[in-house]
Amino acid sequence: MKKTISEVAPGWLAGKTVVVRADFNVPLMGARVTDARRIRESVPTIELLTHAGARVVLLSHLGRPERETKAEFSLAPVATELAGLLGEPVTFVSSPNGPPAAEAVRRLAPHGVALLENTRFHAGDETNDPELAAFWAGLGDLFVNDAFGVAHRAHASTSGLAEAMSARGGEAVAGLLMARELRFLEEALHAPERPFMAILGGAKISSKIGVISALLTRVDRLLIGGAMANTFFKAMGLHTGSSLVEDDSIDLAKKLLREGRERLLLPVDCIVAHQIAARVPTRAVTRDQVGDDDMIGDIGPKTRALFAEEIGKAKSIVWNGPMGVFEIDGFEEGTVAIAHAVAAACDRGALGVIGGGDSGAAVDRAGVADRVTHVSTGGGASIKLLAGGRLPGRDSLTDRG
Ligand code: ADP
Ligand code: MG
Repeated sequence: MKKTISEVAPGWLAGKTVVVRADFNVPLMGARVTDARRIRESVPTIELLTHAGARVVLLSHLGRPERETKAEFSLAPVATELAGLLGEPVTFVSSPNGPPAAEAVRRLAPHGVALLENTRFHAGDETNDPELAAFWAGLGDLFVNDAFGVAHRAHASTSGLAEAMSARGGEAVAGLLMARELRFLEEALHAPERPFMAILGGAKISSKIGVISALLTRVDRLLIGGAMANTFFKAMGLHTGSSLVEDDSIDLAKKLLREGRERLLLPVDCIVAHQIAARVPTRAVTRDQVGDDDMIGDIGPKTRALFAEEIGKAKSIVWNGPMGVFEIDGFEEGTVAIAHAVAAACDRGALGVIGGGDSGAAVDRAGVADRVTHVSTGGGASIKLLAGGRLPGRDSLTDRG
C-alpha cells in the first residue's frame, strides 16, 4: 500500500511547501473551462493542505501542446476556475519552471496557492528529464500526486518528481483523489464479487484492444461495443461498410475471439447511417446486414436489451468507452441504455466503476452519475490498472510505513 496525504500529520504540514501534481487536463472553449469535473475533484486535496497551513504549488499538463507555448494550451483559465472553487486567490505563474517559477514559489505565503503553467510546455516533462523533475522536487518539502489520469505515464511531473523527492529525503504521497481512484479500482481488480463484467467501447481501438486479452483472464463476461466492435465484426468476416475499423488489429481480434469464446459478447445489431451526423436518416440492422455505404454509429435495440440483461446479472462492473457516437443525436441510445443498466445494477448493490473522459461525460448525459459507485477521472490509467499493467504514478509513491 502507498502512503496517502491523510496519513501526513496536519501539524507537520504547517508552514511547509507542498508540490501537488493535479490533473487539470480539462476541455476548453477559448478561455472558458467547459467541464470542470477534474478541477472540482482536486479541491479536497488542495483544501486539506491550505487548511493545515501549507503553501501549495500546483503542477499539471493540459493537452498535447507539442512543446510550444501555445496560448490555447495555457492553464490560465484553470487558475481562474480554481480560484472560484476555492474562494481564494490562485497565483498563476506563466512558466512551468526556471527562475520565474522558483521566485513565485518563494513569495508564496502560508495557506497560499500557486499554479505553474502547463508542464508540457517543457519538452522534458514527457521525456522524464531528471533535471526538470529535480527542479520541481526542489520547490517543496513534500510531493503529492493527485493526477490519476496520467498515473500510467512515467513523466517528469509524475513518477520522475516522486523519485526526485525521495532522493532528497522527502516523501511522495497519494492525494485524496488518487487514493480514492486506487481504492475503487483495486477493489474491482483484486477481489471482485462475481459475476465480474467489463464493458469496453469507444474509438481508441489500438490502445484498448491490447487490454482485452488481459481482461479476458479476469472477467466472467466482456461486452464489446463502440467502434471497437467493428474490428471484431470484420475479423468474423462480416461486412462493415465504411465504418471505423482498425485493420491492423484484425488478427488480434481473431485471436481474442478464439480465446474469449462465450465470455466475449459482441453486438448482434447496430444503428447505421450513410454518414454520422445529427438528423441524418438512421436504420437498425442486424450485424450481417451492414451495406457498403453504411457506417455503424451505435449498438442496435436488440443489443441494448441483450447487454442490459447481462449487466443485470453482474455483481461487479467496469465500463470504459461509449457504445456509439453518443455526442451526436441519433447515435446516443446505446450508450444511454448501458448507463441506465449499470446505474440500476448499482442501485441493487453491484459495484460499478466507469473510466474514461468520454464515458464519464456519457454517464453525466444519461443523468446517472450519482447512482454509479465511482466515475474515474482516468480512462487509460484505469484500463491499464484493470488489465494488470503497472502504473508508474502509483508505484513511485512512498510505501505506507
Ligand atoms: P473514453 O474517453 O471513455 O476512454 P474513447 O475516447 O476511447 O472513450 O472513445 C470515445 C469516442 O468513441 C467518442 O467520441 C465516440 O463518438 C466514439 N465512438 C464510439 N462508437 C463509435 C463508432 N461506432 N464509430 C466511430 N466512433 C465511435
Ligand atoms: Mg476519450
